[in-house]
Amino acid sequence: MAVVSPLPKFKVVFVGDKSVGKTNIIYRFMYDKFDTTYQPTIGIDFWSRTILSVEDTQIRLQLWDTAGHERFRCLIPSYIRDSSTAVIVYDVANRQSFLNTTKWIEEVRKERGSDVIIVLVGNKSDLVDKREVAVEEGDAKALEFGFIFIETSAKARFNIKPLFRKIVTALLGMETPSSTRQEDMVGVNYGNVSSSHVSSSDMSNTQEVAKTN
Ligand code: GDP
Repeated sequence: MAVVSPLPKFKVVFVGDKSVGKTNIIYRFMYDKFDTTYQPTIGIDFWSRTILSVEDTQIRLQLWDTAGHERFRCLIPSYIRDSSTAVIVYDVANRQSFLNTTKWIEEVRKERGSDVIIVLVGNKSDLVDKREVAVEEGDAKALEFGFIFIETSAKARFNIKPLFRKIVTALLGMETPSSTRQEDMVGVNYGNVSSSHVSSSDMSNTQEVAKTN
């Protein structure tokens, strides 16, 4: 009798200060939409999407969107604890959010040691005139810690797919150096295989969704 192996699932947790664009990065990836109104994440939101990866392998990414607000900080360690990837986001137009990535790095290291893929993301690269963090600074920080680095703009749809492509490639153990040019990277098909979302208001359903998808 043929044995059907379960779909490989990877938990990816998004952390960073509030308002840096975590929700919109996920929203852009999931639905190719952008929300101009700011609605802070309450607690934790859960999103799940199956994607076709290299050589037609299907994998499932479980995306966990955390609230940057102090009030919910205590929830975050438990979500980091069993994640395979931590995406640490800052806003390139907000220097403090970049400086605070050090705290987020410590938080992730405390829970996962070095047993986790860490991606540093400088979001809002479209805010050219308001930029407070040079791309070289983000790159240098990532190099110092051995992280993957990428700048994105959820608003301008810039580098969102490459961000997830880097995550998938790293998860499949085929990470390419951060300096690798986009066009050199392996193809990853992000067709709408299937997706789901559970907001923190119905978190009791989360395990159900995670299992059934
Ligand atoms: P979160 O708290 O980190 O989840 O941040 P949100 O995704 O809710 O975004 C916070 C605010 O920043 C919202 O007003 C968004 O419209 C805005 N925002 C998010 N991403 C971008 C971006 O790439 N560029 C610009 N200009 N604004 C963005």
